[in-house]
Amino acid sequence: MEPKPSKLKIPEEVQAIATLLGEKGFEAYLVGGCVRDLLLEREPKDWDIATNATPDKVQELFMLWNGGTPEHPSTVYENDFGTVLVKLGPRTNTDLGADIADGVQKNADKFRTSQRKSASSLRESALNVVEVTTFRSEEGYADKRHPTKIVFAKTIEEDLSRRDFTVNAMAMGAVKLTMGALIDEYGGQEDLKKRVIRTVGRPDERFNEDALRMMRAVRFSAELDFQIDPETRRAIEKHSQELELISKERIRDEFIKIIETPRAAAGVMLLEELNLLNYVLPELREGLGVGQNKHHIYTVFEHLIRALDYAAKQNYSLHVRLASLLHDVGKPRSKQGDGPDSTFYQHEYIGAKLAAKALDRLRFPKELTEQIVHLVRYHMFYYNTDEVSAAGVRRFLARVGPENVDDLMKVREADRIGSGVPKAVPYKSRHLLFMIEKVKSDPISPKMLKVKGDDVMKLLGIEPGPRVGFVLSVLLEEVLDDPAKNSSKELEARIKELGKLSDTELKKLSAKAKEKKDEFEASIEEETKKKYHVK
Ligand code: ATP
Ligand code: MG
Repeated sequence: MEPKPSKLKIPEEVQAIATLLGEKGFEAYLVGGCVRDLLLEREPKDWDIATNATPDKVQELFMLWNGGTPEHPSTVYENDFGTVLVKLGPRTNTDLGADIADGVQKNADKFRTSQRKSASSLRESALNVVEVTTFRSEEGYADKRHPTKIVFAKTIEEDLSRRDFTVNAMAMGAVKLTMGALIDEYGGQEDLKKRVIRTVGRPDERFNEDALRMMRAVRFSAELDFQIDPETRRAIEKHSQELELISKERIRDEFIKIIETPRAAAGVMLLEELNLLNYVLPELREGLGVGQNKHHIYTVFEHLIRALDYAAKQNYSLHVRLASLLHDVGKPRSKQGDGPDSTFYQHEYIGAKLAAKALDRLRFPKELTEQIVHLVRYHMFYYNTDEVSAAGVRRFLARVGPENVDDLMKVREADRIGSGVPKAVPYKSRHLLFMIEKVKSDPISPKMLKVKGDDVMKLLGIEPGPRVGFVLSVLLEEVLDDPAKNSSKELEARIKELGKLSDTELKKLSAKAKEKKDEFEASIEEETKKKYHVK
């Protein structure tokens, strides 16, 4: 039972919590992921303590701990889980609410449906709370989703028996008598050595109790680079359809964790192999077996997996990884023709719609979805060093948003590398970045015009209305063409001229300006044609 000495230290405050429990005569163990990670010499994401003290008792002991006051206690009790969150470290009263809310969120995500919007893994991970959970045994999984009630257990062994995988079902003594001793009832250490994910107990039963565990198996396999034990694997294949019963929020959170690992691509492949992808992101499966054209050696599906692989290996952010995975998701539906000359006109629009639908279904936060969809939508931007003018680059920036350029370039890179036949285009990218640098301080949005709506109204003596918008959009278009025109004097003169036009004329002119805005983009069709050698 001697644990492997670990280079990693248990944070003092975690030890202090266990020590206080011990002093009061309770048992306290480190459990779950942190024990696994300690043994693997990986840094644990969080520290969980299991104890035989009741939640009430834990709250009582730690409420005033570490600077807590009755008004701003250091603890919060998450009623449904038997978990008390104990706040760590120096804190101000103002941050406690947010931290605790984070902790509750995280805890809620852990065991069952979370109705909350943000995924735990969407936030910065920071050790700010320790979860102290009373030994539990779970009974009555009525709907393959979650236990119908929570029952406290008497012993740590019983608590471990309800945990999902052997490597997650070890406990390490954290108080004097048992300090450092490992409780490993299910061969967790051996499976760590063999690098295997295996359920505690019979896999059929365990997936039947909670179908999310199937995704968790894939997640841990990707995260730890472990194989899933054959029997556990077979059970997943058999029960895969039951993932349908699981809340989208829980699925989303495990999916995000898969995407966030360096082996994200292998994780998504494994989801597909085990027939789980169909219940997570069926849109991706449309690309299975869909060949492309002479510029690609991979099917759409394989290309997307490879793009994700690159993005993950580069350690790009979550939204860039997901945009890389989804950038061509519209291709199967837009494919025309067959063989080397197939085309995929407008696949970026179709893809953006599909991506939006899929991410909404998975309850991704709106802002994150929008970021990803935007990147999918614009991943086909046209750029040719010989043809593009500074005005074109300004229009490109106006449309894409200067703040998104970096991410877009990353998706392009993932696309290029993931094609398997990367052409030498980095020069183009560098050129575009150089051009962007050059036009960086030029006005590209109405906000950056030297005149505002108010000026238009004052100068023309008109009330708020569409006419003001028409004038501004004509002005912006002209300034995009020639930034020198962005002076109050010139613009005011121009406003007066435009004021002479009728509503219809102004509308026409502004529509024309909008059309022009799309010219950079309309070239996409040209590029697509060139890229695919069609006339
Ligand atoms: P991470 O490093 O991502 O935090 P973890 O192993 O701590 O990994 P969590 O999701 O935080 O994973 O869960 C903590 C522990 O709770 C697990 O190690 C496992 O023992 C148990 N657990 C979590 N979810 C389930 C589940 N659905 N079924 C059974 N046990 C679970
Ligand atoms: Mg954890």
